[in-house]
Amino acid sequence: MPDKDDLKLDSPVLKLDGVGPKTAEKLAKIGVNVASDLLFHLPTRYQNKTKITPINYLKNGEESLIEGVLETKQIVYRGRRSLVCRVTDPSGSVTLRFFHFSKNQTEKLEVGSKIQCFGLTRKTVRGFELIHPEYKLANIFDKIPINETLTAIYPLTEGIQQKKMSSLIRQTINILEKSNPSDYELLPETIRQNFKLADIGESIKNIHYPSADSTDPIRKLIYPYLRRLAFEELLAQKLYLTRGRNQNMKRIAPSVSCSFLRDKFLNGLEFELTGNQQKVISEIDADLNRNIPMNRLLQGDVGSGKTVVAGAICTNILASNYKVALMAPTEILAEQHHKTLMEWFKPLGFETILVTGKLSAFERKDIVLHIASEKPLIVVGTHALFQENLIYRKLGLTIIDEQHRFGVEQREALLRKSRSGKFRAHQLVMTATPIPRTLAMTAYSHLDISLLKSLPKGRKTVSTHLIPESRRVEIIERIRIAFRGGRQIYWVCPLIEKSDKLEKKAATLIAAELTRELPGLGVSLIHGRLSEQEKYDVMQDFILGNTSLLVATTVIEVGVDAPNATLIVIENSEHLGLSQLHQLRGRVGRSQLKANCILLYKNPLSEMARTRLEIIRNTNDGFKIAELDLELRGPGEFLGKRQSGAFQFKIADLVRDSRIVAEIGNAAIEMKSIDDNTIDRLCNRWAIGKRLSADI
Ligand code: ADP
Ligand code: MG
Repeated sequence: MPDKDDLKLDSPVLKLDGVGPKTAEKLAKIGVNVASDLLFHLPTRYQNKTKITPINYLKNGEESLIEGVLETKQIVYRGRRSLVCRVTDPSGSVTLRFFHFSKNQTEKLEVGSKIQCFGLTRKTVRGFELIHPEYKLANIFDKIPINETLTAIYPLTEGIQQKKMSSLIRQTINILEKSNPSDYELLPETIRQNFKLADIGESIKNIHYPSADSTDPIRKLIYPYLRRLAFEELLAQKLYLTRGRNQNMKRIAPSVSCSFLRDKFLNGLEFELTGNQQKVISEIDADLNRNIPMNRLLQGDVGSGKTVVAGAICTNILASNYKVALMAPTEILAEQHHKTLMEWFKPLGFETILVTGKLSAFERKDIVLHIASEKPLIVVGTHALFQENLIYRKLGLTIIDEQHRFGVEQREALLRKSRSGKFRAHQLVMTATPIPRTLAMTAYSHLDISLLKSLPKGRKTVSTHLIPESRRVEIIERIRIAFRGGRQIYWVCPLIEKSDKLEKKAATLIAAELTRELPGLGVSLIHGRLSEQEKYDVMQDFILGNTSLLVATTVIEVGVDAPNATLIVIENSEHLGLSQLHQLRGRVGRSQLKANCILLYKNPLSEMARTRLEIIRNTNDGFKIAELDLELRGPGEFLGKRQSGAFQFKIADLVRDSRIVAEIGNAAIEMKSIDDNTIDRLCNRWAIGKRLSADI
């Protein structure tokens, strides 16, 4: 048994009671390594076991604590075998029902004892029942103590039960109480005062053990404490990113300028750049002209023409004898970019090479040589771009398309290729996913942001229609009309459950059905089960107009450009995320032609689902959609909400805490002189380095 007085907040969890090597391993999987990590393992909700509810007041669907006399017990065999007890208090009686029970347990439940139960009340045909309640037994004259604080319910991991988790957290709070505040308070007093932050120790204790005295709702009760923690988490992120940005400023990148090649490039285009594109390009030109690495995010709605911006800035780099590496999330997209860039740059005398996972040994060897050469050229590829054996020489710029599709590690890996000593290549990341303001102020605050707000001239907005699935005939008719007009059509059939195999099946059925209904149409099919080559061939056929209708699963989603497609039908639309729908819709309306998007849904539609679909129907502005989406999702579960992607915070919630977001910038400035070690401790506490890279 370890000596309890030796335990420190930074002791490994292995030192706690009830933790052996196996448990320690399971805890490590959820990021809990040392005792203090448990303090930040926050509950998702609470149970109130602080007051006894008279049985007569039980309500269906509510969790309550009751106390009474165990009057009867009996094993019944109606349907499923169950142990049924009757508990009575002065106000009434209620049934307890257990489906899993041992002989020992049955014996201990002695009729005539006092029993205290906590559980969920269910209304059944036989009256109210508590199914599998927790319970405590006592002699009829004894008192059963009740909790003084609310009971926290924690998120668990496989192999660790609620009871174990509570015990571990209890032990850690005991350590906290004996520790010196300087061991765990990482924010200076001035910050705590100026931003009216609650004490960290108090905050932790109150979140794990909220008092039950107040009649205020729990969310109001604990908000001051949550605010303290959310503030710290957001501040930690800000400090981390600011430090990364400052470090990056000390690196060196090639200073290149807009050149003769730019004019040639622009003259070769079949369209004129929009004013917005020109503005963005000049913002990037200014960055490239400096000898510190650019870190810029180009955010532009689907179809806004980001690719040509990328092309235009390649000219600066190539003319200065450096290489460009462009990374795309899928092979389809990489091949499409390769083709586009090759068409632009071949006439200008520069090579564009493609690196994907499916190269032959011979091709690979050739590519390795090219990349290691001094020659200026463009390398396009998927994440295969940063495989071990590729050594880039004279890499001046990396471009990441659809950056939200890449994880931190992949972006890091590409950056590693672009660093050597003090040198680092410039970097441009592009995304069509609009970034709500609060996010721009947090996770992206270290980047310079360029916006492509307007679409190229002459673009007509896509009209969006909500149609129940039952009116399929009507849709077939619309397809027929588009087809007769020489246009192409997408039919997207995502499944609710993500499975390549099932999606393939669904897509195959639809393709067969449409082929039957519309003879002569030329239907092709693309799904995740095809090889990359097959996918590419199908896409190519569609882009070249050899097929008229493409049935697709969501593999189609990003970046694909087939300007003659004017109609997209999306099945199961009520199950897709708003930005995903917006992305899919962006597959059409990529030319001067009028385009339509049909969202098919199944009735009955919940009110929430209808509101969401109406947002898509009523707005074509990706930024607005993102903001509304964030609002609509609301604070969700008040605690422990899981956000997706790189913006997963442990506790901060960009909707609930938007006021904090607005304060963080000032707080970070006030903390300018903070030492590196404290930043590291803060980042460690909030697991920030794991999900963010400060370099991009
Ligand atoms: P995204 O921003 O979604 O990546 P793309 O770069 O694929 O958009 O561009 C969409 C389409 O718009 C392409 O067919 C492209 O050639 C075309 N395009 C881009 N800029 C212009 C422009 N200034 N005028 C006309 N068409 C343009
Ligand atoms: Mg694109």
